[in-house]
Amino acid sequence: MSNTDFAVAIEDLTVSFDGFKAIDNLTLYIDKNELRVIIGPNGAGKTTLLDLICGKTKASSGSIKFRNEELTGLDEHIRVRRGIGRKFQTPSIYENLSVFQNLEVSYPAGRSVFGALAFKRTDEVKARVQVVAEEIGLADALEMESGLLSHGQKQWLEIGMLLMQEPELLMLDEPIAGMSARERELTAELLKRICKGRSVIVIEHDMEFVKQIAHKVTVMHQGKILAEGSMEAVQADPKVIDVYLGH
Ligand code: ADP
Repeated sequence: MSNTDFAVAIEDLTVSFDGFKAIDNLTLYIDKNELRVIIGPNGAGKTTLLDLICGKTKASSGSIKFRNEELTGLDEHIRVRRGIGRKFQTPSIYENLSVFQNLEVSYPAGRSVFGALAFKRTDEVKARVQVVAEEIGLADALEMESGLLSHGQKQWLEIGMLLMQEPELLMLDEPIAGMSARERELTAELLKRICKGRSVIVIEHDMEFVKQIAHKVTVMHQGKILAEGSMEAVQADPKVIDVYLGH
């Protein structure tokens, strides 16, 4: 496989904060339709890596290509338009709006240039809301006020708000934090559904959940990749047991 066939091709990426290399000459490739999970101890550089991909942090050196286009010089909002979506741990939904309205205002043309929320129930928007609501398992809750949703449902709604923009790469930071066992199961199913047609990168600490969802696991340590492969392979790797799983 040539490097141009990957959805994401990161090569020799480094970022330093006051001389400290949070990401240290890292090379990583992610396929189209792949669900990649990144694990590793606190401070390994997982969040910084996602910050670099979405443009929240600028690289000191190296390359990040998305669908063969260099991203490193592009601002965060341009990367969103190129199809990169990022969800942080705390959901940022409009609690006083319905599920439908939250999805509606997330449609790319749903926000005016002044930042005010725009409601445009065109057939196109309605059709897209319906597709996304089914993907996130909230098709029966479209008229519900979002503040009344469970913690898990709020997280799914925020994923749905990102899906409204039809991202080709979606990045999620600990998507099951605070969820019930049932919500975790449903989130695993949701993630398996949404990686069809796009790539998904998940940072996760819960190894049972990682086993359920990951196509491939990357283990990070001190800004570098310590191991990469199937969950079974990385779990059996003595280096990984030593710095992470053995604790
Ligand atoms: P992880 O997500 O794996 O826990 P992080 O990416 O949050 O790790 O952090 C990696 C290292 O980089 C940590 O030592 C952290 O303190 C440092 N770091 C991250 N962002 C900054 C920043 N903006 N300024 C200084 N140091 C930072």
